[in-house]
Amino acid sequence: MKKSLITVALFTALSGFAQDNQCVSTTKKGDRCLLTSWSNSLCWRHNPDYVKKEVNPTVVCSSKKKDKTNCKVKTKHSSGICYHHRPKN
Ligand SMILES: [Zn+2]
Ligand SMILES: [Zn+2]
Repeated sequence: MKKSLITVALFTALSGFAQDNQCVSTTKKGDRCLLTSWSNSLCWRHNPDYVKKEVNPTVVCSSKKKDKTNCKVKTKHSSGICYHHRPKN
């Protein structure tokens, strides 16, 4: 009997947890989105902030070369510095 009570308690906790983390948006069919939300109660697919992070605009490296001319290498890195001039770690 004790074991079944624990199972029920665990299930309640898990289902509550799942609801809190479920995306509040709907799919194109009008069904509730089943993906796990990660911020703003929206999943990665429905969260506009996620898309912004995914697509970094291509920029010209803001660093300078050894001869003090501007580096012209294009990069999509969020730092705006190409892989030649970024510190390696
Ligand atoms: Zn979603
Ligand atoms: Zn560069």
